[in-house]
Amino acid sequence: MPFQPLPGDQPSCTVQCPACGHRWLVYQQQLGLLGPCPVCGAARPRSMGSVVPGSGRQVSFGSFRSLLDEPRLLTLIGQALRLSPLDGERFVDAQGREVPLEDIHYALQGNAEWQGTLYNLHMSRAH
Ligand SMILES: [Zn+2]
Repeated sequence: MPFQPLPGDQPSCTVQCPACGHRWLVYQQQLGLLGPCPVCGAARPRSMGSVVPGSGRQVSFGSFRSLLDEPRLLTLIGQALRLSPLDGERFVDAQGREVPLEDIHYALQGNAEWQGTLYNLHMSRAH
């Protein structure tokens, strides 16, 4: 499932390659999914933090993952995507096929209502 940002989303997070110093912007949802540096390919980029305040209500993959022990998130995943928790971080569809966690995160981020629900869960957990 390709990642589709919502119209209101902005790539708001700066990441920097620790090897060559290249900097670029990513969507907050992509932070936990970053591959190697696009310039030198040598190292995993490092998040430098957010640069566009109030740009959206995205929740990073890492934050999403840390919310998986939240019953309300499991309810959302079940109702919105028709997936059932298998154990821990694994989910299956109605046919019993396992669905990658990254796909679940992307799907939730691609719908304004679900994104808002996830964001509210994240914020209620943040403090
Ligand atoms: Zn680099």
